[in-house]
Amino acid sequence: MFNPISVSEVRERYSQGESCYDVISEFLEKIKDSRLNTFISISENEALAMAEKIDKGKLSGRLKGIPVSIKDAISTRGIRTTCGSKILENYVPPFDAHVIERIKAEGGIIIGKTNMDEFCMGTTTETSYFGPSKNPWDESRVPGGSSGGSAASIAEGSSVLSLGSDTGGSVRCPAAFCGVVGIKPTYGLVSRYGLIPYANSLEQIGPIASNVKDAALLLEIIAGKDYRDSTSVEKTFEFKLMDVSKVRIGIIREMIEKVDEKVQKETWRAINKLEELGMNYEEVSLPMMDYTLAAYYILAMSEASSNLSRYDGVRYGYHIEKEMNWNTYFSKVRAEGFGDEVKRRILLGTYALSAGYYGKYYLKALRVRNLIIQAFNKLFERYDVLLAPTMPTLPFRIGEIQDPLSMYLMDINTVPVNLAGLPAVSVPAGLNNGLPVGLQIIGKPFDENMILNVALKVEEEVWKR
Ligand code: GLN
Repeated sequence: MFNPISVSEVRERYSQGESCYDVISEFLEKIKDSRLNTFISISENEALAMAEKIDKGKLSGRLKGIPVSIKDAISTRGIRTTCGSKILENYVPPFDAHVIERIKAEGGIIIGKTNMDEFCMGTTTETSYFGPSKNPWDESRVPGGSSGGSAASIAEGSSVLSLGSDTGGSVRCPAAFCGVVGIKPTYGLVSRYGLIPYANSLEQIGPIASNVKDAALLLEIIAGKDYRDSTSVEKTFEFKLMDVSKVRIGIIREMIEKVDEKVQKETWRAINKLEELGMNYEEVSLPMMDYTLAAYYILAMSEASSNLSRYDGVRYGYHIEKEMNWNTYFSKVRAEGFGDEVKRRILLGTYALSAGYYGKYYLKALRVRNLIIQAFNKLFERYDVLLAPTMPTLPFRIGEIQDPLSMYLMDINTVPVNLAGLPAVSVPAGLNNGLPVGLQIIGKPFDENMILNVALKVEEEVWKR
């Protein structure tokens, strides 16, 4: 059921005198009662211990007493972190990711680790070793992915804020499918230290929340320089309300024309509403769209093939007790520990990087990436934000899409943003047949404030009407 809870609703309960222990206990119960398979692990003891500290006045901060769920790809000290995989089923990290340190320092309470596609490779959570999560609007449907457990948890109200990661859409897609808000920050704004890597050059950790201001609050807390991630930049983020009536909007034609009619309809309805409010738009073209999906998958799989070589069953993760020679051992651990989609990507990525094919695939994809960056730069000379539907379809049924290529096509509107390193937000903009449609707002690098203000307009004037 769709029943999200905002930060201010929880704060209201505290100001009425409820104890943090009671509030957090209630959320933990909700997680246990959930029928949506949103969590892989619940950190009950840690959460209640922190709640007690807050009740004793020993902790405070901007997230004081707020229950936060975390995608299971983000390392949490002492709390099992599986990345949705059998190979890390019993892995307990000895350190916290940068973003976790920030949340704890602000009094936020980590209540559990959410379900996800194995190693973030997927669009539905169906590749999770722990089984798929379900969509709170219709349990027979997917919640999106790969951060599907995070978005579904926010939508069902079993947590109030969540962190996902977005390599090619994994925050925005589940946000769109679950009717909540998800931000993919500019590359470099949020430290990736402690995020289990899938494709480093593309991914960012991003907030998911029931409304724009809550998502912005979490972004304020996790953004900022961290010396442990060499790509993290000397920038912070602060959400400031601004007048968006004069914002120059471009609608990306290629991202609307080819999507499902129902999604088109809701997208235009939202755009027309903005127009009624006095905002102007123009249709723009991004012909590079024909090549973005291919470039994304070549780069993502290549990076994955190299990243995942660390899972050898020796240092940590799944291992086999029997004695055997090293090569056999290594192959057996990986054959048993990884799921089919992960294996497919390691194989294809290794192929794309191999001596004879490197130039033909990997280098070519890098060149395409450059052209995409240039194409966006050009559009941003004339427009402040670019709009498009986040996903090409409504949330589909669990098991409905079986072949990998059709699944990859679902990422058509989200991956260009990662290739160019831009910030984007998905905000709910309409309902069709009782299912949510997300609108994607893309901005210039480090212009999160602009896209979030436009998103706020959509939330107030389109979604909540
Ligand atoms: N669905 C895309 C993929 O499988 C994006 C995943 C992600 O952003 N982690 O690569």
